[in-house]
Amino acid sequence: MSSPRKFHAVRGVRDILPPDTSLWNWFEATARDVLETYNFREIRVPVLEETELFARSVGAETDIVSKEMYTFTDRDETAISLRPEATASVVRAYIEHGMQMRPGLVKLYYAGPMFRRERPQKGRYRQFYQIGAEVLGSTDHPAIDAELIEMLTVLLERCKLDNWTLLINSIGDANCRPQYVQKLREALAGVKSQLCGDCQRRSETNPLRVLDCKVEADQVIINRLPQIAENLCEPCREHFAELRRQLDLRSIPYQVTPRLVRGLDYYMRTTFEITSPHLGAQNALAGGGRYDSLPEMLGGPAVKGIGFALGEDRFIEVIQSAGKIDATRPLDAFIVWMGAGAYPAAARLARRLRQQGLCVELPAEEPKLRKALSLAERLGARFAVIIGENEVREGAFAVKRLADAEQRKLAEADVAAFVKTTAPVAPRTGAQASQT
Ligand code: AMP
Repeated sequence: MSSPRKFHAVRGVRDILPPDTSLWNWFEATARDVLETYNFREIRVPVLEETELFARSVGAETDIVSKEMYTFTDRDETAISLRPEATASVVRAYIEHGMQMRPGLVKLYYAGPMFRRERPQKGRYRQFYQIGAEVLGSTDHPAIDAELIEMLTVLLERCKLDNWTLLINSIGDANCRPQYVQKLREALAGVKSQLCGDCQRRSETNPLRVLDCKVEADQVIINRLPQIAENLCEPCREHFAELRRQLDLRSIPYQVTPRLVRGLDYYMRTTFEITSPHLGAQNALAGGGRYDSLPEMLGGPAVKGIGFALGEDRFIEVIQSAGKIDATRPLDAFIVWMGAGAYPAAARLARRLRQQGLCVELPAEEPKLRKALSLAERLGARFAVIIGENEVREGAFAVKRLADAEQRKLAEADVAAFVKTTAPVAPRTGAQASQT
C-alpha cells in the first residue's frame, strides 16, 4: 500500500506555533488593555459577509475586491466572502443594531483573521490578523483622529518599539476630491504609457491608487503629478491643520506624506500609516483614516467615522526582532515520581501547584530519574520535584532548582510557596526557550 498523502497548509496561510503563540497572546492582551483605557469596547463581527457589503464599501474597483477576495456562492445563491477587512462589518453591525442610539461616541475594537488572496511574501499572508478600532458618531473633530493615533503610539510604547514613523495625509472629501481626481486623471493621461501595467490600469479605474505605486521606475513620474494637499477645499485644509496641531500638542512626531492615499475607497480627509524599517518592502504596521460617508453609503445614519487596523503578524515580527519582550511562560515544575506508591502523592502535588497558578508537568508513566531530569531541563523547567516512596513516607519532597542544582527538602504544603517566591537564577529569553 502506498503511504498516505501528507497535507500542508494552503499556500499563503500558516500555522502559528508555541512558543510564538505566547507572544501573540501577550500582544493581544496588551492591545486590549490599551484600547480599553481609551474607552473602546470589543465588537465581534462574523468572518463571513455578503460580498456586496465589501463591493459597496471597500470599492468594487479596488484590488482587494476585484482580485483578492475569497468568494463563494452559498446554497441560497447569495455571494458570500471571507472578510478582507473588518471596518465594513463594524459599520454594518453599527447600522443593523441602531448603535447610533447609544450615548456619546461609539468606540469599538475588533481582533481576528482577515483573508486576501495576495501574492504571498515576507510579511504578507493570505490569512493574516488585524486588531482594529473604529470611532463612530456625530463629530469629526480632529482631536478624535489625534487621540486614535496617540492610542496606537501608546501601544507601540508598551511593545517597547521606538523605531517607527507616523505618516499622515489628507485626501480631501466629496467636495474637493472629485476635482483633484479629475486633475490627476488628466495629468496621468499624458504619462500613463510610461508607467507600470498596474498603474496603467489604475489610471483608468482608480487614479488615486497610482500614488501608492512602489515600482521604482515609476517614482519620478508620480512625484511630478499634482498633489492633493494643494487641492484641498478650505474645510479640509482646516481639518488637516487642526489634526497637525492636535498631534503637536500630544508631542507625537509625524511626517506629512502627500502620496499616502490608502487602498480602500471609503477613506476621506485624514489618512495615516505607521511604518517600521524592520519590515522591508511590506513596511506598514498599521493604517487608517476617516470614512465620514461610509455609514450613509451603507444605508445608515449620517454619522462620521474614523478607524485603523494594525497588522498583528507584522507587529509580532517587529517585537521579536527588537527582542525586548519575553512573553514565554516558563514551566515551573517537573514532577519526577518513582515507584507506583509515589504516583498518588505526585498527582496530588501537581494539582495543588496548578491550583496556585503554577505550570506543572507530571509524567504519565514512571520515568527514569536521569532521563526525567534531562527532559525537565530540555523543557526549560525551573524546578524538578522528586518524589520516591521514601519521600512519601517522610512527607517531604526533594525540590531541585535546575539552573544551579540547589536542592532542598520541603513538605508538600510548602512546595507551591517556595516555587512561587524563588526567582529564576537567570531568566530564560524567548529565543533560548524556543531553541530547546
Ligand atoms: P489595510 O487593511 O490594508 O489598511 O491594512 C492594515 C494593516 O494590516 C497593514 O498595515 C498591515 O500591517 C496589515 N496587513 C494588510 N494586509 C496584510 C497581509 N496580506 N499580510 C499581513 N498583514 C497585512
